Amino acid sequence: MSSSASKSQPTDHGGVHRVVVVGSGFGGLFGTKALKRSDVDITMVAKTTHHLFQPLLYQVATGILSEGEIAPPTREILARQKNARVLLGEVTGIDLDDRTVTSHVLGRTITLGYDSLIVAAGAGQSYFGNDRFAEFAPGMKSVDDALELRGRIFGAFEMAELGASRGEDVDHLLTFVVVGAGPTGVEMAGQIAELAHRTLKRDFRSINTRTARVLLVDAAPQVLPPFGHKLGLWTKEKLEKMGVEVMLGAMVTDVSERGLTVKFKDGREETIAAVTKVWAAGVQASPLAKVLSEQTGTPLDRAGRIAVNPDLTLTGYPEVFVVGDMIALDNLPGVAQVAIQGAKYAAKEIDGRLKGKPSQGPFKYFDKGSMATISRFNAVAAIGKVRLTGFIAWLMWLAVHLVYITGFKNRLSAVMHWFVSFLGRGRSERTSTEQQIFARTALARLERGAVDLVSRPGESEEVHPTETREQLEARALEEVRLTDESKRGVKTAAGRI
Ligand SMILES: Cc1cc2nc3c(=O)[nH]c(=O)nc-3n(C[C@H](O)[C@H](O)[C@H](O)COP(=O)(O)OP(=O)(O)OC[C@H]3O[C@@H](n4cnc5c(N)ncnc54)[C@H](O)[C@@H]3O)c2cc1C
Repeated sequence: MSSSASKSQPTDHGGVHRVVVVGSGFGGLFGTKALKRSDVDITMVAKTTHHLFQPLLYQVATGILSEGEIAPPTREILARQKNARVLLGEVTGIDLDDRTVTSHVLGRTITLGYDSLIVAAGAGQSYFGNDRFAEFAPGMKSVDDALELRGRIFGAFEMAELGASRGEDVDHLLTFVVVGAGPTGVEMAGQIAELAHRTLKRDFRSINTRTARVLLVDAAPQVLPPFGHKLGLWTKEKLEKMGVEVMLGAMVTDVSERGLTVKFKDGREETIAAVTKVWAAGVQASPLAKVLSEQTGTPLDRAGRIAVNPDLTLTGYPEVFVVGDMIALDNLPGVAQVAIQGAKYAAKEIDGRLKGKPSQGPFKYFDKGSMATISRFNAVAAIGKVRLTGFIAWLMWLAVHLVYITGFKNRLSAVMHWFVSFLGRGRSERTSTEQQIFARTALARLERGAVDLVSRPGESEEVHPTETREQLEARALEEVRLTDESKRGVKTAAGRI
């Protein structure tokens, strides 16, 4: 990065205590809001311009909700909070001794000084060391992921209709595999089954969508492990009644454009021909956990989460709080409430210190329970010792999600979409574009991603837009050739294409 593109934040901040918040997810947003009445100057820096309600991503992927309903602009949410401002940027550096945070966006760099820091950068998808699977089996972590999956799922039915009308075998197009039988995997498999067996059944002429196969695969021996054996069994039976094939004790060993291979405990291997795969297994904490670990010598766990003190601070740096999916503390789960409560705790601690109040003591998590939907009108819930299934659990799921969707307008339109999808058969958000399906892979083929497509301050001579466009066109042609010849993801002597 050229130094001319770099800009440091002015150090004169009028003596007001500067709080930098990294991330606009549950931790980042709730931490910032909790400091609303404090005498502080907050800068929230996040790599997206929205606050994402991840629990409903699967509904965007399956055409129930629009992305705007679950991802409102952070800037709009915080518009009235005068002590907070929002900056777009991916944080790549945190200097704990200098007390600075450095972020980048499209070739622009900014360095912010802080007096207190809240790091809430969450977690990404983990492919357990097989990152090459990502090209063929997108995860479910971002709006991009959900829109790409929407395109792939509805696109598979379109391609099957086309193939069938030409007399071709389309079984691989009508087979959908979801990897990971946690809440997200269960919700995705249930929704794809409802799409195939209910929503789309009258829309096609050459294919019968009800013959589509939906498989839910997991290496674990049960569905929804954190919900316990009984609810796991109930969920498995419910899914099977809906036509989902549940494959447990099955480890995914390879994924390609045309399918995937699973290995069972007894050593047996099976190859499943399926064009559409969804990866809903495993999480890896933000790489910022490693950045912090390297400077403090604090260990990371297997999921890359950093160990924090009982008050959520980093050892040796009491002004730095880490919250949410990034932390390893007392086996706390990676759920929204851990991030929300942790961020509120950190905000209260910062405010208290400024007012000279004693510390609140260790952070205590209050478990409000867990829920997962299986289909319309069916869910499971585990709240304390209470276990609920079916319609009652689904009503609870509905109420809880309505409370946590941000903004009245979004709540209202989500309810209307749920009416259309759950009482009727419709899915009003089925639109998807070629760009949504292929842009991620196309960008990944550029050396520096989107940065290659824009000019940067002071670097106009280095960037040649015409040349970049030509290169892009050549890449697009190559992409079409590989797809037409079914060669994407094929192993060759020279490696994988
Ligand atoms: C598909 C799915 C379904 C889920 N369902 C549920 C559920 O039903 N119930 C439940 O309780 N939990 C659920 N969760 C988990 C829950 O969403 C997370 O536990 C929660 O979002 C964690 O909050 P967080 O603030 O730690 O991270 P996030 O909410 O992920 O926020 C991270 C933020 O940091 C930003 N960021 C990341 N890296 C950087 C960087 N380097 N620089 C700047 N910004 C950065 C991101 O853009 C984002 O704004 C689900 C998660 C997923 C993915």
